[in-house]
Amino acid sequence: MLSHRELDRYKRQIMLFGEEGQERLKKANLFIAGAGGLGSPVSIYLAVAGVGTLTLVDMDIVELTNLNRQILHSDRDIGKMKTASAEEKLTALNPDITIKVIETTIDGSNSTELVGNADGIIDAMDNFPTRYVLNDTAIKKNIPLFHGAIRGLYGQATTILPGKTACLRCMFPKAPPKEVFPVVGVTPGLIGMVQANEALKYLTGTGELLTNRLFLWDGLNTHVEEICVEKDPGCPACGEKRTKTR
Ligand SMILES: [Zn+2]
Repeated sequence: MLSHRELDRYKRQIMLFGEEGQERLKKANLFIAGAGGLGSPVSIYLAVAGVGTLTLVDMDIVELTNLNRQILHSDRDIGKMKTASAEEKLTALNPDITIKVIETTIDGSNSTELVGNADGIIDAMDNFPTRYVLNDTAIKKNIPLFHGAIRGLYGQATTILPGKTACLRCMFPKAPPKEVFPVVGVTPGLIGMVQANEALKYLTGTGELLTNRLFLWDGLNTHVEEICVEKDPGCPACGEKRTKTR
């Protein structure tokens, strides 16, 4: 049940989701992999929308070079763990929700345990190897993966529902090479908003999800495109002869 305070706090979105939808958000637990460029806007907007439990995982320390885009962190946080900085900011934004933080690197050996009983995974990572781990974990647990990725003024997002839609390995069988890529803060801001919007819609059962569609943002020319994607029957993660068992 929602308290009087919650009914007030979320009044303007209860007009969209109804009290039942807001209660669903309150009961939900989302796993946010990364408290950086994408993790910042995603966690801020999910926190203020009243998602009951947010679990953030990150291993890094706030550095000066992060601050052009990682809006959870400020100048005085330099040298602090990103998880500690994130916990402080998100709790200040909304003390009515639970923020859990874990300081670790996600890999194939710990992802199942880390994700626990979360209702969905937000991919706020900066590399494909970890994204594949998240993808396989989402499939194993039969929970959605809200994918987002950025580079420079370009970004992409999609929503993966295991068993129903194309997964990340169907769409991107090979990881792009690892690199230090250029980025301006508005790009993760924009893509993070798409991911947060998808998660809120999924949890409240609102609208149509970005499934079997890859949303592409070209900020250089202010152009939006959508590519239809299909499940690959030969996919090692979700296909008929799957080999990934994370
Ligand atoms: Zn697949």
